[in-house]
Amino acid sequence: MTDPDAGALFRGFAEQLSPFLATWQDLIRSHTRSGSGHCAAPECARPGYGSHDFIPYPCGVRAVAEAARAHHSAGCGERRVAVSGG
Ligand SMILES: [Zn+2]
Repeated sequence: MTDPDAGALFRGFAEQLSPFLATWQDLIRSHTRSGSGHCAAPECARPGYGSHDFIPYPCGVRAVAEAARAHHSAGCGERRVAVSGG
C-alpha cells in the first residue's frame, strides 16, 4: 500500500475550502501567533491542559486556510457559493 501524496492532499483540501470564504477567514482570524510563537487558537492548545504553548505557529489549520485564501485570490472566485435570500 502506497502512502498518499501529502502535498496533493493538502492542495486538494485547500482548493475545496477556497470557495468557503467565511470558513477560512474565521480560521485565519482565530489561529494567530501567540507571544511564545505557538498557535493561540483553543483548538490548538494542549489537550486537557488548555495551554496554548503546544502547536508551533503556523499550525496546520492556519496553513491550509492561508492556502485556501491564496487559491481564492488566484482566481477561483468565479465558482461562487450560492447565497439564497436577500
Ligand atoms: Zn492553530
